[in-house]
Amino acid sequence: MPTLHQRILEINAEKSMQYTTDESARNRYWASHPTFFACIKCMDGRVNFPVMTKTPVGIVKPFRAIGGKFEAWWPSFLGRVRHWVEKAESMGCRSFIFVTYHYSASDAHLGCAGWKYDTKAARAHAEKLQQELSYIFGEQMTAIVAGVETDHDLLTLHGPHADLSGEMLAGKSEAEVYQTIASIFPDMNQQTNHDLAPFLLGNAGRVEELTRQPRDLKQKGHNERIIAVGQGFDWLVEENLALIINDADPNLADSIRVAGSLIEKNLKDAPPGDDATIFTSIPYRNPGLDYRQAVVRSQGLRLFAERVLQESFPDLMKSGRLHSLAAVMWEANKKIEII
Ligand SMILES: [Zn+2]
Repeated sequence: MPTLHQRILEINAEKSMQYTTDESARNRYWASHPTFFACIKCMDGRVNFPVMTKTPVGIVKPFRAIGGKFEAWWPSFLGRVRHWVEKAESMGCRSFIFVTYHYSASDAHLGCAGWKYDTKAARAHAEKLQQELSYIFGEQMTAIVAGVETDHDLLTLHGPHADLSGEMLAGKSEAEVYQTIASIFPDMNQQTNHDLAPFLLGNAGRVEELTRQPRDLKQKGHNERIIAVGQGFDWLVEENLALIINDADPNLADSIRVAGSLIEKNLKDAPPGDDATIFTSIPYRNPGLDYRQAVVRSQGLRLFAERVLQESFPDLMKSGRLHSLAAVMWEANKKIEII
């Protein structure tokens, strides 16, 4: 087995264990905060929502793509958001989605590579997506644009007339916290307001930590080795190892080609023994049909990615340094199974 495949399995085993032990924390959390939360974000490993808001892993449903570039018209993306919103509705809950973009206060080139460091364009895209999602889901879902400043992990929500950051809530009483949120988001219902507060208060704590003990801004170099295609790669994100392509992307071949060119470049600069891999994964919830459709989709995605890369990067494919791996992931514990 290639070393990189071994490494993927090791990272997954560790993260899956952590996810399983966090189960009771998540259940306790949901019992008192019924609103469903999701976050649209860049695949950049620095955008790490649980760390940034000091909340248990798995509370917020992630949607990750290069630069967070989802479009509301993408049929499978919209279908997934709709399924999630309708599940909340069937349980008598509302939904909330953070539509994020990211930037760095100290250095433009520590911003979002997916947007070629153009923060204005990234924010404009988030605003358009937020408006379309709000239009589609109406009062059932609150969508809010949020900036993530990655030097200090500062989360800033953009309201219709003013901004709200966790810092603004630090030291306030519970009643004052709810009041402040309501003053920036006057249309937000009370339950959503209450369930949003812990993320902002957690973020205030995180920002304070990083202000006291600043982060080493010498970034882990972006030296990805994995073209990850499919869904449910959150356990892999922190490692800065994977270029993640959500299979809801209707321009899947284009995105795979972009990732292929980056991997080719990374391998050129790497020691001769280093390798890279295509890695496809599809989550499933139940054995039976749900499992079997995940198997077929993951295998199909792998063949598709191989074909696209063969056409555009024949030398890379011939070099023997790019492998491929197809997996399915059991949603309950995030554990992958190689197929
Ligand atoms: Zn980014």
